[in-house]
Amino acid sequence: MTPLPPGAMLGILGGGQLGRMSAMAAARLGYRCHSYAPGADEPGMQVAAARTVAAYEDHDALARFAAQVDVVTFEFENVPAETVEILARRVPCRPGEKALSICQDRLQEKAFLEGIGVPVAPWRAVRTEAELQAAVAELGLPSVLKTTRLGYDGRGQAVLRHPDDLAAAWSRLAPRPLILEGFVPFTLEVSAIAARGADGALAVFDATENAHRHHILDISYAPARVAPEVAAAARDHVAAVARGLDLVGLVALEMFLLPDGRLIGNEIAPRPHNSGHWTMDACTASQFEQHIRAVVGLPLGAPDRHHDAVMRNLIGPEGMAAWPGLQGQKGIAPHLYGKAEARPGRKMGHANRLLPLGALAGLDDAAALGPLAAIAVQKT
Ligand code: AMP
Repeated sequence: MTPLPPGAMLGILGGGQLGRMSAMAAARLGYRCHSYAPGADEPGMQVAAARTVAAYEDHDALARFAAQVDVVTFEFENVPAETVEILARRVPCRPGEKALSICQDRLQEKAFLEGIGVPVAPWRAVRTEAELQAAVAELGLPSVLKTTRLGYDGRGQAVLRHPDDLAAAWSRLAPRPLILEGFVPFTLEVSAIAARGADGALAVFDATENAHRHHILDISYAPARVAPEVAAAARDHVAAVARGLDLVGLVALEMFLLPDGRLIGNEIAPRPHNSGHWTMDACTASQFEQHIRAVVGLPLGAPDRHHDAVMRNLIGPEGMAAWPGLQGQKGIAPHLYGKAEARPGRKMGHANRLLPLGALAGLDDAAALGPLAAIAVQKT
């Protein structure tokens, strides 16, 4: 495909921080962005050359938007399928509908991962309370009950530890379609991110090790402090995902690491991912730049790391309290998303700490964090 020329207009659906950082990467490559989102003054809107504030179901607004952009991409995967269909009739949409529909539904996602040979937790579809009983009888306890759609950051799920937990979990999550997953006794959470161009070229970043607090990503360490064969398997898995989805764009795969070194695929996000924010400062081409490069048809950048990195999110008022202290420090790159109100649990920004190549492997968490240890996290 011929790359879009400098000055071309990219449409970005979704106005959050991922759209903001994508638009900033696009601007660096000489492109303009049109941000489409239901709310005004969202982080992505603030840095866009053009804006549409409208619902995803507003057909007229979608038609006007499509007429004004050369290509459309997404900063989140839960865009209604009909929105994508309307846009795709008028303008190229990347990643394609296949990537979006598979990643919107945990059942499709699990079946897809199994199909391409990425191991997953044992799972059962659950539509009725009787099916829940039967699934628990088969998979045992503990297990995890999740909504198949629109779950993120631990929302829409319940860990079942005792037979008494079933009724409460069912009444909280039903009548939405659900999935029961066997509980994975993981030692570490790992993710990997791949970009895939329209010509099928792949660029895969180093695997990342992730620590969550209250179901929200707190810290990413890159590269993951795992055995080389585990890191290689993580990268192979995400490359298989990118190929299998026929993706043009960027995809992140979240995985669990078992004590025996096996990786279990958990969730796919066909877009830039929080666990890839370290690439903004530790790679020549960040995940956002790779996303834009793929979408406009430019060759991908090399995914090499020039530093080791630790990323910590600034979440809610506690995270924002650390902001002044992060300024002007050697090796610390702070980022803010332009959100007016620091509500509890809200991702306000992040900070990357750069370390010399190879340094991270020998450090414990406290030494790896350094000044990032001063970032407080929400207590409950
Ligand atoms: P998810 O929404 O699927 O990303 O899950 C959110 C978090 O819940 C994960 O980061 C894990 O910490 C935990 N979790 C999800 N699924 C499982 C599972 N099958 N076994 C154990 N922990 C899980």
